[in-house]
Amino acid sequence: MNQLPEAFLHDIPKTDLHVHLDGSMRIETLIELARERNIPLPSYEPLRLKEILNIGGIHENLESYLRVFDTTCLVLQDEDALTRTAFELAEDAALENCRYIEVRYCPLLHQKNGLSLPVIVESVAAGLRMAKRKYGIMSGQIICALRHLPPQTSLRLAELAVAFKNKGVVGFDLAGGEINNPAERHAEAFAYVRKNNLNSTVHAGEAYGPRSIHQAIHECNAHRIGHGTRLRENGDLLNYINDHRIPLEVCLKSNVQTAAVDAIENHPLKFYMDFGLRITLNTDNRLVTDTTLTEEYKLACQVFHLTYDEVKRLVVDGFKSAFMPFRKKREVMRLVLDEFEQVSQKYGLKSEVATTGVSRYAIDRVGEDPMPD
Ligand SMILES: [Zn+2]
Repeated sequence: MNQLPEAFLHDIPKTDLHVHLDGSMRIETLIELARERNIPLPSYEPLRLKEILNIGGIHENLESYLRVFDTTCLVLQDEDALTRTAFELAEDAALENCRYIEVRYCPLLHQKNGLSLPVIVESVAAGLRMAKRKYGIMSGQIICALRHLPPQTSLRLAELAVAFKNKGVVGFDLAGGEINNPAERHAEAFAYVRKNNLNSTVHAGEAYGPRSIHQAIHECNAHRIGHGTRLRENGDLLNYINDHRIPLEVCLKSNVQTAAVDAIENHPLKFYMDFGLRITLNTDNRLVTDTTLTEEYKLACQVFHLTYDEVKRLVVDGFKSAFMPFRKKREVMRLVLDEFEQVSQKYGLKSEVATTGVSRYAIDRVGEDPMPD
């Protein structure tokens, strides 16, 4: 199959389940907010600032990549800045036909000027609501705990997440430097989240091996895994994750930049898809990684020569993996499949497996299938 048109990848309905608020602001907004607040930046010229922060470049490791957030967080210390950034992130997503996003951040990083945790969550929620009103984009927040902070701090954040469950928050996450900061230290926070019937995900297998993913699944009971790039190193765990349909939140470009893979061609995305894992494509950080969702799809298609059906499966798996109530998800899925079909017709594309009457992944029967995979 020839390369799918970029416009098609732009137009199809999509999800972004792994996107950091503080890593996804517009560079112009970062500069404008800094100017308004008299916050010194190494440069006020967008291209120069990108260059200084190594935005879109390859970093030595995850820790070096994460240092860029020190700069973005300087300006995200008041309600207006948080609301604007959340709105613009959702707006940028909506403008490339992303229908649902889950925006994650650690509220503790936005307290330098004394904002309370609830005010931070409400400020982000206000921005996402504005985007919903203007573009119809659905969204939820994921509260991140950080690996290097004490377990008690994670527990406080878990309590915050639960307090805002059904009021904007849809999940809980563990982020930050993976090496020397095992997820199992934060098991109590995840137990609290689980007992309160809130969803969770854990960044794992990005900068550390399968043991980190094992802890995320078995010590923290994560419902999804952020990245999971090194899962391929343990076939047994890979099968467990496949058998339990635990989705991986793959972020291709970011994985190259943080040195989770040494080259994009060596990314396990295609192997995971061929194996049957539930895979979602995400941006991670629109600013820090210098990417868009369309670009991530384009990259996946270019490097791994994905077919029309494989792209459709990525889209469907994105919606299936959303932290959204099942009954609502079923409704959304029907609309999404209709829209996918319309966009496909516009570009003269159709399934290569549907003509045989057999769909390996039951993607055409979502909703009716008694056992959707
Ligand atoms: Zn991330």
